[in-house]
Amino acid sequence: MEVPTKPEEIIFRSKLPDIYIPKHLPLHSYCFENISKFSTRPCLINGATGDVYTYEEVELTARKVASGLSQLGIQQGETIMLLLPNTPEYVFAFLGASYIGAVSTMANPFFTPAEVIKQARASQAKLVITLACYVDKVRDYAASAGVKVMCVDAAPEGCLSFSQLTSADEREMPAVKIHPEDAVALPYSSGTTGLPKGVMLTHKGLVTSVAQQVDGENPNLYVHSEDVMLCVLPLFHIYSLNSVLLCGLRVGAAILIMQKFDIVPFLELIQKYKVTIGPVVPPIVLAIAKSPLVGKYDISSVRMVISGAAPLGKELEDSVRTKFPDAQLGQGYGMTEAGPVLSMCLAFAKEPFEIKSGACGTVVRNAEMKIVDPQTGASLGRNQSGEICIRGDQIMKGYLNDPESTKNTIDQDGWLHTGDIGFIDADDELFIVDRLKEIIKYKGFQVAPAEIEALLLNNPYISDAAVVSMQDEQAGEVPVAFVVRSNGSTITEDEIKQFVSKQVIFYKRIYRVFFVDAIPKSPSGKILRKDLRARLAAAV
Ligand code: AMP
Repeated sequence: MEVPTKPEEIIFRSKLPDIYIPKHLPLHSYCFENISKFSTRPCLINGATGDVYTYEEVELTARKVASGLSQLGIQQGETIMLLLPNTPEYVFAFLGASYIGAVSTMANPFFTPAEVIKQARASQAKLVITLACYVDKVRDYAASAGVKVMCVDAAPEGCLSFSQLTSADEREMPAVKIHPEDAVALPYSSGTTGLPKGVMLTHKGLVTSVAQQVDGENPNLYVHSEDVMLCVLPLFHIYSLNSVLLCGLRVGAAILIMQKFDIVPFLELIQKYKVTIGPVVPPIVLAIAKSPLVGKYDISSVRMVISGAAPLGKELEDSVRTKFPDAQLGQGYGMTEAGPVLSMCLAFAKEPFEIKSGACGTVVRNAEMKIVDPQTGASLGRNQSGEICIRGDQIMKGYLNDPESTKNTIDQDGWLHTGDIGFIDADDELFIVDRLKEIIKYKGFQVAPAEIEALLLNNPYISDAAVVSMQDEQAGEVPVAFVVRSNGSTITEDEIKQFVSKQVIFYKRIYRVFFVDAIPKSPSGKILRKDLRARLAAAV
């Protein structure tokens, strides 16, 4: 729906009416607001062990953990780090922290020690909750910074055990007054430029985002307490935390936790637990489309397949549709800073709309979207491509300790500039066609070119470097580097690749190196990435 406003602004809104959103509630209270309707129903199912936790068990355990965190000295406003794969304890820790007004920063457990420490230090995490096998990544840093380390499995010497939290007395949980603007989650994202930054998502922001998806008479994402949602996407990414865990909790669905994606256990679990909702990312869609095994399992229970976090080509979307003939398949479009969901496929609504393949859905309710010309800032009409901007209570409060980057992302009128290029068609459907910003999305994971460039520039045999994305069938995009050797340097492509690999998680590795005489830059010193992308296209 197009709403006339200032003559120069064309604002797009959802086709569904706005709804009431209880923004005053802390996130945990909002999630469990309707728990009496499904308290004895399964809430979390651990796919690896078959353990099932009911809603009342999850809520009670979260309050115990809250009490335990507080006894450990974690105060309101302080941060804990979750360095974990998907496990029930992840959920207990996140909710427990929310109860006492603490903030969870989420990190990929496959990060290298340097990457974990960078985030732990920047977020000032007071406690790291992890698995015994990852303790060495933080042990020395934790000892020197006075940070506690806790394991959800058998704790090695010097570490605390998570059972200390789950056995605490919930009645001793401190009474804290949580303000809707208080942060509750602190994922890291590089946004439109530069290095990864802490994204402050508040109680109000996440409540709004979840409500935009699942609340109201005709929810955009119609999920209910009979549903079984597959939680295979990592909870350290906000897509899974929000659209799977928090949305699932709000409506009383069963959340089936899987630690990692492998096609056989994925299909087995869908069949065994009669999964109804499958939130996935394009590489999983690709694996499903290509796997001859799909026909061997009964996956007819699936009624919705939601793809997000990275572009999904129309051909792939159409091809996987044939594997789930009875399911609605569509996309959601998110960005960590946007809370994260900007648009959602309306085929997922309770009263669904017809949709087009390749679309990223329609802007969510209680939010405004506009498309602006990146050069002039002018607001564009339908079918005109420009930068996608979003405004609403769901977006981040800002970057932690970085007002400058916050100002460059959220303008003075409250519009968050995504750095994505897209257009809205005559039926209110959003299509993403390009990306203005630097980030590279490897299977939905973010790679910040600035981070890899900084590593490359640390090498004495390299005098300048720039990292851009290259298309890849499996991963979507992979990072490649343009490198200027220092005087007299003979460093090779392999040496550069190894130099980077040793310092980063697998998806930030350099796939190709192109040696050049100079990195093209603007007069102000900004890397002209478009020129490099054109050179890359010519080279491959
Ligand atoms: P992240 O903050 O890691 O969720 O990454 C956000 C970025 O991923 C967006 O700004 C887009 O560039 C990209 N993205 C997310 N969802 C989609 C989608 N459905 N189609 C195309 N790109 C997407």
